[in-house]
Amino acid sequence: MEISKPHAALLSSPGMGHLIPVLELGKRLVTHHDFTVTVFVVSCHMSQAESQAIQSSMSPKLFDIVQLPPVDISHLVDANATVVTQIAVMMREARPALRSAISSMNPRPKALIVDLFGTESLPIAEELGLLKYVFVPSNAWFLALTVRVPFLDREVEGEYVDQTEPLRIPGCRAVRPEDVVDPMLDRTNQQYIEYVRVGKEIPTSDGVLLNTWEELQSLTLAAFRDETLLGRFSKTPVYPIGPLTRPLSGSRSEVFDWLDKQPSESVIFVSFGSGGTLSYEQMTELAWGLEMSQHRFIWVVRPPTRTAADDAFFTAGTVSSGDDPSTYLPAGFLTRTKNKGLLVPIWAPQVEVLSHPSVGGFLSHCGWNSTLESIANGVPMIVWPLYSEQRMNATLLAEELGVAVRPKVLPSKKVVGREEIEETVRQIMEDKEGKNAIRARVKELKYSAEKAVSKGGSSYTALSRLAQQINEISMQRPTETEGYASLALKPN
Ligand code: UDP
Repeated sequence: MEISKPHAALLSSPGMGHLIPVLELGKRLVTHHDFTVTVFVVSCHMSQAESQAIQSSMSPKLFDIVQLPPVDISHLVDANATVVTQIAVMMREARPALRSAISSMNPRPKALIVDLFGTESLPIAEELGLLKYVFVPSNAWFLALTVRVPFLDREVEGEYVDQTEPLRIPGCRAVRPEDVVDPMLDRTNQQYIEYVRVGKEIPTSDGVLLNTWEELQSLTLAAFRDETLLGRFSKTPVYPIGPLTRPLSGSRSEVFDWLDKQPSESVIFVSFGSGGTLSYEQMTELAWGLEMSQHRFIWVVRPPTRTAADDAFFTAGTVSSGDDPSTYLPAGFLTRTKNKGLLVPIWAPQVEVLSHPSVGGFLSHCGWNSTLESIANGVPMIVWPLYSEQRMNATLLAEELGVAVRPKVLPSKKVVGREEIEETVRQIMEDKEGKNAIRARVKELKYSAEKAVSKGGSSYTALSRLAQQINEISMQRPTETEGYASLALKPN
């Protein structure tokens, strides 16, 4: 029998939030576990930032990246379709191309690992005799809610946001109605139907990979293994393999010339992910709040808009005309803060900035990648959730993990005033005699994260376990590329 390296196919949906961790997962499988990897990317209009992420993960070239042909969904979604709906439909329409690409591979991969939006492709793996996994590039609370939502759909009447009691989710702190993920905000919207479907499809996989680590979310991860809490889902192995974050690129820009001149941990970094924007009114308050705090800052500025993410999601990192900050920030702000702050239009090298020793805080929209990048660099946060699952992430960070402060009212509900912004900035940036508990706690988690992904650490071991299972099961199979049935995996 021919013995070759195990080969895994990974499927990424569009958007930095998915592509970055999928590429990092590919790298780990190749470098730590001696796999051959092919990454399939479904993308309609690839943003500049996505193209850069792909390019940088290609040097050195560790695996093949196959861009599936663009899919035209214009006739399938209406003009107001949300990002979630658009991605779900794109992933559905991309299935024939994925199927034909995998079936023409020789030798055929042993496993297909799809990201959250790719669960409709699990039957393709089944049909072609591949093991099938879902990579949820988020945290354990998010997974707990997602696999629960098909039950909530039957049990809860009316809109979730109108409930008077928090939603009880096994393994997870009860979710306040205002904290539910975006697809749950309106049960009549197509994105809700797509989300419930994903919640049903995840447990049909041979296992779920999560971008978290055992020590960060031990209670929720333990609940996943508890049949009395999670029922049938407890039979699905869950592999916490994170934090998978983008490594430093080593590129230098003028941002770093400025940062090099600032004192240690004195700068707060303000950024709202790949697509986040604020209203004009909120930008004005934020500018005043930063100025009044008298702390140094780097702010990734984007022109104000009325909607949160949807406009910018697919064009992240693209600078266009009309982006001059002086046209939308308070009069005199740029002059008054010229010695204290640096504005970066549209897009900053975030991982590199967060790892700079002068950075001591992060005002963040709480996207999970940004969150992990902050924790991995020991940087405490002000949570400013805007969309997606970020409200839950914000609660996890501020109320469970103790690495962040939050405004009293959600920024998506009400404009946060300048005095409150000033106060929250001071709360994380000031550390009299090293007694700032939030700063101390995030440094503990930084070490815990480093340990988890190091050889012998919990995440390293979890990925080894997955690699071993793929190996063992695939060794039991014939090497022919056609005609064998999927073998069932035993739970770990
Ligand atoms: N990012 C960046 N520069 C920016 C904004 C975002 O490099 O100016 C990167 C950030 O480091 C992270 C990703 O884009 O890796 C955003 O992912 P996240 O999950 O935080 O949020 P999303 O963009 O999906 O809302």
